[in-house]
Amino acid sequence: FEGYDLVVVGSGLFGLTIAERTAAELDKRVLVLERRDHHGGNAYSEVDPDTGIEVHRYGPHIFHTSNERIWAYVNRFTEFTGYRHKAFTLYQGQVYPLPVNLATICQFFGRYLTPDEARALIAEQAAEIGQLPPDPSHEEKGISLVGRPLYDAFFRGYTAKQWQTDPKELPGSVIARLPVRFDFNNRYFNDTYEGLPVDGYTAWLSRMAADPRIDLRLNTDFFELADAIPDGTPVVYTGPLDRYFRYSGGRLGWRTLDFEREVAPVRDYQGTTTINYAEESVPFTRNVEYRHMHPERSYRGDRTVLVREYSRSAGDQDEPYYPINTAGDRDALRTYRMLARQETAERNVLFGGRLGTYQYLDMHMAIGSALAMFENRIVPYFRDRRPLG
Ligand code: FAD
Repeated sequence: FEGYDLVVVGSGLFGLTIAERTAAELDKRVLVLERRDHHGGNAYSEVDPDTGIEVHRYGPHIFHTSNERIWAYVNRFTEFTGYRHKAFTLYQGQVYPLPVNLATICQFFGRYLTPDEARALIAEQAAEIGQLPPDPSHEEKGISLVGRPLYDAFFRGYTAKQWQTDPKELPGSVIARLPVRFDFNNRYFNDTYEGLPVDGYTAWLSRMAADPRIDLRLNTDFFELADAIPDGTPVVYTGPLDRYFRYSGGRLGWRTLDFEREVAPVRDYQGTTTINYAEESVPFTRNVEYRHMHPERSYRGDRTVLVREYSRSAGDQDEPYYPINTAGDRDALRTYRMLARQETAERNVLFGGRLGTYQYLDMHMAIGSALAMFENRIVPYFRDRRPLG
């Protein structure tokens, strides 16, 4: 491991952005270590062997951002299609558009309502909660936002499946807001830019790693060779924060997903990319039909691939997907953040990405925070010899 200016642990979008910028902008040699047998982290996709359809191995990923800089940066590596994500939910044999919008409300209550009528109706239904207690439950907070009928139909069962907990027992803090739109806008994301990489995620991610000054080592766990890295070499670590410190502050809680794949002998199984299943009696949370992400491609017409998602809390061997963020997790996170600051000051290790900071990050956020780390910490370190800490 001699001769590298920087070691990056993890080849997800955070790690690749740091590696790409450091190599291209500062002309430095970067070693990227990746535990898995592929690069790209959770944005990785592959061609389904039975159908030829591009499938995202870790759940459906749609790129979206309103940030001009991030959009310009990602467009260096890929063009994007004009895909606009729309989602639906199935409840008692009816399909409704998501997020809840005027079409959902009119369909649910069985008549046309103007935006003002719909707003008044939801406000009246939400008023049953009255003054919220200081620490409201998910159920109390949810009803106060959307009223009981919509909460019971679209949020109660889905939330119970996501968290495997009765929403009465879940803290209201889990939901900052439940989006309700009083117009017919049913686009899932509101960002200026949205799309899918024209020739797939893996092509995009490979171009980010293509600089000859970047060496990517797959199937390599940082912890198995950390001692071989020369002392003082700066490290950007994007693996789990608690693992870095040997879980000394306790384990940070995550939810994981189990994916169930099925090849159906039809061209089009459900007519859209994602359908949520709102009812608790259906064990999975959503069904994803990947062919709909690329209507511009000529996929074969006799079969389609579907992936159903089941949510549960992650055990030691599971992939961490969404931070649970209980009060205990937040306490542990404070301890880890303090340890991380010390580690940066004493050993030149920076922590970043969704695992390294214990927070859910969309792809554009992971890239944006990596660009900020590059400019604020890595450039001054190499150009002005300023300490990382
Ligand atoms: P990751 O992609 O997780 O990369 C971290 C890498 O570090 C991994 O490859 C891991 O193997 C590696 N690693 C960990 N420990 C070690 C170690 N000890 N040694 C070596 N390597 C290690 N974002 C969107 O913008 N749009 C979406 O539609 C969207 N959908 C999503 C759906 C799901 C189900 C999930 C879970 C996430 C979704 N995201 C989406 C978020 C997106 O996945 C993240 O923004 C992105 O993965 C963050 O990149 P990262 O580099 O921080 O982390």
